[in-house]
Amino acid sequence: MSTILADQDMTMDAGDETIKIPSALPVLPLRDIVIFPFMIVPLFVQREKSIRAIEQVLTENRLILLVAQRDGEKEEPLAEDLYEVGTVAAIMRMMKLPDGRIRVLVQGLSRAKVTGIETTSNFLRAQIEQLAEPKVESTLELEALQRNVKTAMEKAVTLGKNISPEVMAITASLDDPGRLADLGASNLELRVQEAQGVLELVDPQQRLFRVNELLARELSVLNVQQEINSQAKGEIDRSQREFYLRQQLKAIQQELGEGNELLEEINTYREKIAEAGMTEKVEEETLRQLKKLERMHPDTAEAATLRNYLDIMVNLPWAKSSTDNLDLFQAQKVLDEDHYGLEKVKERIVEALAVRKLKGKTKGALLCLVGPPGVGKTSLGRSVARALGRKFVRISLGGIHDEAEIRGHRRTYVGSMPGRIVQAIQQAGTNNPLIMLDEIDKVSSDFRGDPSSALLEVLDPEQNHAFRDNYLGVPFDLSNSMFMMTANVLETIQPALRDRMEVLRLSGYTEEEKLAIVRKHILTKQMEENGITGKYLTVADSAVRSIIMQYTRESGLRQLEREIASVCRKVARRVAEGDLKRVTVSAKNIHEFLGTPKILPEENLKKDQVGVATGLAWTPVGGDILFIEALLTKGKGHLMLTGKLGDVMKESAQAALSYAKSRAKELGIDEAAFSSNDIHIHIPEGAIPKDGPSAGITMATAMISAFSNRPIHRTLAMTGEITLRGNVLAIGGVKEKVLAARRAKIKTVILPHYNRKDVEEMPQDLIEHMSFIYVDHVKQVIKAALI
Ligand code: ADP
Repeated sequence: MSTILADQDMTMDAGDETIKIPSALPVLPLRDIVIFPFMIVPLFVQREKSIRAIEQVLTENRLILLVAQRDGEKEEPLAEDLYEVGTVAAIMRMMKLPDGRIRVLVQGLSRAKVTGIETTSNFLRAQIEQLAEPKVESTLELEALQRNVKTAMEKAVTLGKNISPEVMAITASLDDPGRLADLGASNLELRVQEAQGVLELVDPQQRLFRVNELLARELSVLNVQQEINSQAKGEIDRSQREFYLRQQLKAIQQELGEGNELLEEINTYREKIAEAGMTEKVEEETLRQLKKLERMHPDTAEAATLRNYLDIMVNLPWAKSSTDNLDLFQAQKVLDEDHYGLEKVKERIVEALAVRKLKGKTKGALLCLVGPPGVGKTSLGRSVARALGRKFVRISLGGIHDEAEIRGHRRTYVGSMPGRIVQAIQQAGTNNPLIMLDEIDKVSSDFRGDPSSALLEVLDPEQNHAFRDNYLGVPFDLSNSMFMMTANVLETIQPALRDRMEVLRLSGYTEEEKLAIVRKHILTKQMEENGITGKYLTVADSAVRSIIMQYTRESGLRQLEREIASVCRKVARRVAEGDLKRVTVSAKNIHEFLGTPKILPEENLKKDQVGVATGLAWTPVGGDILFIEALLTKGKGHLMLTGKLGDVMKESAQAALSYAKSRAKELGIDEAAFSSNDIHIHIPEGAIPKDGPSAGITMATAMISAFSNRPIHRTLAMTGEITLRGNVLAIGGVKEKVLAARRAKIKTVILPHYNRKDVEEMPQDLIEHMSFIYVDHVKQVIKAALI
């Protein structure tokens, strides 16, 4: 209920001569309000007795006593239910309402004390005693109090208290402390009890003091209310705020002329993200990054990095895959078309595909093709991909020693990129390519982490469905991809990795095989690549043989292919220059195309020598022959080894010497020779590290030859491990070794008996003009080798 203050002009002052307050007045009990002098308030009256009281006073002097009830609930208040102090008021206006109630406008005139109540049947009538307002002296304290109350009221208004501007205007001009107190109290919306307390304080100063207290309390309540309000508002505002800010940002950007482009860019990204087929989580993360971009200045380096990221994300084949063709006959056909020979390897590959066909993607072996360079490992992988209808990508792992190469760098690094695996997927454009991990034996680990363990995760079907690249920051499913590996040697592959793969060995090719491959595959391929046809070029077998023997020395075909390419290029140039004559290349004119031969045939020894034996060695790039020299010098029986030999090879030399000592007599050696001589064993080409046990019998032969002073057959080479008792054990890499022997025009090869089967599996043309001696014991070696 709003309280209106009596306009000063309208005020019927209690002290006014015109109004005489009688000693008895009808009572209007008030349920929930206290009316102060000088206030004008509308009241609704409903109770019978009250209505009658009003009707009564309207016929008399219009004066009535307003007294608050102690308990507002009481319908029929009696004398004891009313407070003892009330306000004499004049009824200014009365109106009957249709519902039987009446509405009166009353104006307080003066405080009055009830001295007695008389209950008539119609209404209550009170004996009263007017409580006149005592005069107060204006003191400093009173002045301060007044000012305080005024500012407190103003403050209350600023804090949201609902007091009308008129009231505030009157407050400002009031200088009567009692009236100021009443005005304040009636506008504070006090509880009845509190308001009554103020009413009962007759002394203006005390009253003002009390009102000041009440105002102070009100202010603190208002303050807290304000705080609560602003908190609640904050909650609602947050979401709205972002919206407004965004709108503002857009407006600013538009003003700067950059808004539209950015907006367009963002929208394009948004569309692409929706189309990329990402999983929910990935999409969420990408959109989060897009939001970041939205907030950035488009020309900053950071925005460029973020754009890079988004480009990669939207272009990754999250859901794009090719359909597999699992027709095994077709696969076999493709492999045969692309590659000569390699029957066993092809067979195993087709078997692996068969398992895949029957058991699904997670099964099927992890194939690792092991062999010297250029024997077709990578190109086999390419063929498998072609047969399956999958995309082929090759990751060269040679020299990788940083885990980040596989897993990528975090985006916080400048110039960071995804790792090789994700790059490969990107390159393939499908999520199920055949990925060839090339040279997996050349992966090393250092302080930057172990790339092999990252590779293990890539290859593990249990884990690779959620491969985490540091750059992407979200998992990518690699389980649809197929992996194949290549290596030159097995030994350097991390054991856990080696354990998981199935090894398929490829060995070097013989001259005949190479010739066939050139005829069937390489020549046509190179002619095509260089844009010439059979019309312009014929290559005779003799030319190919000459290239194989005189221009290349390798197990595989890389150099050979390069030389043939070189021939084709030269012919292409001639044709392009207008010389359309057909060119025939043969052994006779090959030097016109390739220059003088680069490789002199590997020479075996010029004559049979004492203490020099020819060994056969296996290296990661193919077989080789090596000469092992033994020399006696005056000394005390020490063994000296030079030529950068590995531990296994040194031990092998010790074993050979011990054997020779133990069998001196049988071998025709003077036992005294051991104690009066040192023996020096040297294997030339010292810069190349050599290791392995397979030179055992060769070193023994060289030593025994030196001690017994018997020369060794020069056209004979040997390989085999030796035991202390002179037994000869099997060795590996037989085909490579035999190929090397053949290149060196060796006629006879001594091999361990156990390796006979390896020779029997070799192509006939390779072993045609060679003879093999299979041995179980060094005695047999000595018998065959020494003259
Ligand atoms: P690697 O990966 O083993 O080092 P590549 O796969 O690069 O060797 O082979 C070198 C070249 O020799 C390729 O052009 C390849 O097509 C060819 N090649 C190797 N082996 C054969 C083969 N058995 N039949 C046909 N071409 C072959």
